Amino acid sequence: MSIKSLHSVRLNGYSPLMSLPADYHMHTPLCRHAKGEPTEYAARALELGLPEIGFSDHSPVEHDDQDDWRMLACELKEYVAKVEHAREAHPSLPIRLGLEVDFIPGHEPWIKEMARRHNWDYFIGSVHYVSGKWDFDNPKRLAEWAEHDVDEVWTDYFTRLTNAAASGLFQIIGHPDLPKKFNHRPTRDITGLYLNFLAACESTGTCIELNTAGLRKDCAEIYPNIELLKLAKPANVQITFGSDAHTTQEVGMNLEDAMILAHEGGFKECCRFNCLEKNVVRF
Ligand SMILES: [Zn+2]
Ligand SMILES: [Zn+2]
Repeated sequence: MSIKSLHSVRLNGYSPLMSLPADYHMHTPLCRHAKGEPTEYAARALELGLPEIGFSDHSPVEHDDQDDWRMLACELKEYVAKVEHAREAHPSLPIRLGLEVDFIPGHEPWIKEMARRHNWDYFIGSVHYVSGKWDFDNPKRLAEWAEHDVDEVWTDYFTRLTNAAASGLFQIIGHPDLPKKFNHRPTRDITGLYLNFLAACESTGTCIELNTAGLRKDCAEIYPNIELLKLAKPANVQITFGSDAHTTQEVGMNLEDAMILAHEGGFKECCRFNCLEKNVVRF
């Protein structure tokens, strides 16, 4: 923990000895842009004193030519075996089996098919595509933002995110304001989009994720922003936490800051999942 975050933790009435939340967003080398095996992530989590972790690597899609940053459909079993191996190597740490699943219209039957294949603890539904094959958060595709109207991207993003939440296919919605990653901010008030999205989450009991990866990007903010988070509590939407670790060093990163933000948003409890069953815990 940095001196700065230690200081802010104390300022907000936390002791660094208080328990950290579960880190539910971690990747594996199968997605081709993460380093470190699940066993190494688990060892790091134990070092940090995390109470529980969950893997949620980029899920395969039915047709492997979607992009080059996810496991192949034929690698799903290998992924599950890697997580199983981490469980065997670190029996004192609860390790959950999840996936970060892209919500793309038309992919619903495939998502249901994946859900049947293994004993998942949770699926994180994420939107990285707003139209066609443009993955707007991919640094290699950054130039394509110039071809798009920023407000339209935000509208399309929240429309798709709302449909993801309404689908009931996911326990958690990942990084729910991702278009801010490279600092493309809406130029108008989008409270209405937030409220529609949160209503969809509430109707299906879908949580939203506080994802600290944004702190490591140009936007330098946790996903989601505090405005969205402050609307979530009165909308009866629950939360989870995730570092979105793509390296061993990123495991648990900035979770104290996320706890502080959650408190600012009025939250004292978060959710954990065991075989899709939700449990509420204080943090
Ligand atoms: Zn990734
Ligand atoms: Zn993601």
